[in-house]
Amino acid sequence: MRLNLFWKLALTFLTLLLVALIGVDISAERALRRDSERAVMEQLKAIAGVGQAQAPVLSSLPPSKSEEIDGLHAWIKRMQASGARVTVITQQGLVLADSQSDPQTMENHAKRPEVIDALAQGTGHSIRHSVTINSDLLYYAVRQQTAAEQPVLLRFALPLETVTSVVSDFRNTLWLASISLLMILGGVTLLVSRSFTNRVDRLTVFSKRVAEGDFHAEPTGSSGDALDSLGASLNQTAARLNETIRTLTEERNLSSAILGSMVEGVAVVNAGERVLFSNPSFASILGLDVPPRPGSGLVEVVRQTELIEAVRKVLAGEPRVESEIVTGTLRQHFFAATIAAVRATEANGAVIVLHDITDLRKLERVRRDFVANVSHEFRTPLTAIQGFSETLLAGAMNDPQNRDRFLKIIVEHSRRLARLTEDLLMLSKMDADRLELEIRKLPVEQLITSCIETAQPRAKEKDLRLSVNLGKNIPEIAGDRRRLTEVLQNLIDNAIQYTPAGGQIMVSAEARDSEVVITVSDTGIGIPEADQSRIFERFYRVDVARSREVGGTGLGLSIAKHLMEAHGGKLWVESEVGNGSQFHFSVPVFDAERPGPRSRTNGRSN
Ligand code: ADP
Repeated sequence: MRLNLFWKLALTFLTLLLVALIGVDISAERALRRDSERAVMEQLKAIAGVGQAQAPVLSSLPPSKSEEIDGLHAWIKRMQASGARVTVITQQGLVLADSQSDPQTMENHAKRPEVIDALAQGTGHSIRHSVTINSDLLYYAVRQQTAAEQPVLLRFALPLETVTSVVSDFRNTLWLASISLLMILGGVTLLVSRSFTNRVDRLTVFSKRVAEGDFHAEPTGSSGDALDSLGASLNQTAARLNETIRTLTEERNLSSAILGSMVEGVAVVNAGERVLFSNPSFASILGLDVPPRPGSGLVEVVRQTELIEAVRKVLAGEPRVESEIVTGTLRQHFFAATIAAVRATEANGAVIVLHDITDLRKLERVRRDFVANVSHEFRTPLTAIQGFSETLLAGAMNDPQNRDRFLKIIVEHSRRLARLTEDLLMLSKMDADRLELEIRKLPVEQLITSCIETAQPRAKEKDLRLSVNLGKNIPEIAGDRRRLTEVLQNLIDNAIQYTPAGGQIMVSAEARDSEVVITVSDTGIGIPEADQSRIFERFYRVDVARSREVGGTGLGLSIAKHLMEAHGGKLWVESEVGNGSQFHFSVPVFDAERPGPRSRTNGRSN
């Protein structure tokens, strides 16, 4: 059976108390008995002294003379008055006379210890139970010289009844006092043990609470003893633990918030190729339906062998490996994977960081395509110019009819080259953020009318009806006159180019909230839906041959879109093949407080 602390303490104290009290009682009783017996002894010695002084004269042993016998009996009688039993014994143990019994009936006393001692040393004593008087007796014997040749032994005895009763009384009182003391001290012991165990129990509960994560302070006592200071230091420990855990939790929350919101995919792998941690981006980059559970194997999670190989290299000891991985088949995504070794105390591992470089790769592709496109665009007019110039030099110069035709072709291609160069220059300015816009207050009507006037002859030439439809109360807009004219002119030119003879082109304007939307609609060939989002890309044409034929560069809409974005507006298209197209662009209404969105372009587009 396991005893709790209270019973252990209480029983230990009570046992100690009991043992101490019993020890004290027994030794006190012994001391009392010893003292009392010593007093009786002293009394016996005094009686013996008197007895010896008055001892009768014996000339023979046993006495034969009648006066000696009478003298002996008289002496015994006298001595009996002292209350002691008196016995006279010969050296051989023969009882000559006794104050209480008939010597004839008494056995030989030679073997009695007090007799042996007295014969040897002069005196002797012993305590024995006397059957004759049924009581403990203290015997004291002295050797007495006689007139006969041999000495006799005078033996005096006093009962120890009084000693026994005194000791018994004392014992009763002592035990009573001891039991009372035991009860009082036992009660106090129980109270002290109870209070002590209660305090220890409280501290135990408190430390369990701390172990379970409850750090509320426990009130400590004011006695200032060891238990109080233990409580105080437990409180301090709990407060410090609380602080540490709070700091760690905050740090952990911060780290997981950072890792969670990162666009880069991050994962940590241990030496056994098990994924210990991964952030949401990691799963989404690799196209995983569910985020990897901590502890799942890397090969079960990742399908890209180059990534697994890179991780293995790092786990094998390389400090850092960089590789590129491609995900997806239709829409490819490119990721730069950096795998670095993690040196932890227990075991090594690797941290994987996946960085999306799809845009970079796309941009690289766009640049490559752009250079190819530019070279291609330049090659056609240059080849033509070169070819016709060489033909002229080779003799065609002398043929007036062909010479004029060839020279016209050379001029046309030179213009095309000039247009291309101009457009490219404009794009490069916009890319480099160097395009200055002079934002002013502009009346919409004026802008549209001037462009219509410029385009009218060409429309007529192609038998197209060019009209204007202005809504009422069109506010003035904030824009750069030259640039907006370029945009509108470009849209009207395209409409003329891509609308067959007999068609209609209309330029309209309407106010919408804080902007004005200008629309160029035609009844031309229209644009297939798949191409509608791409016609704003550089060099993109729906029908390359036709565009070239009409002298287009494929850059017009791309430049126009850039310019509109620089104005804080937009350019978009609605079209249906065979039913014509509507190109819309929005320009902010002029506001005296805010004269323009920005003074130069910084937009990037295709
Ligand atoms: P381009 O110099 O070839 O006209 P743009 O950038 O101005 O270059 O136009 C891109 C392409 O968009 C054109 O090649 C043409 O295919 C198409 N497009 C532009 N405007 C129209 C229109 N009004 N109707 C039909 N197609 C058009």
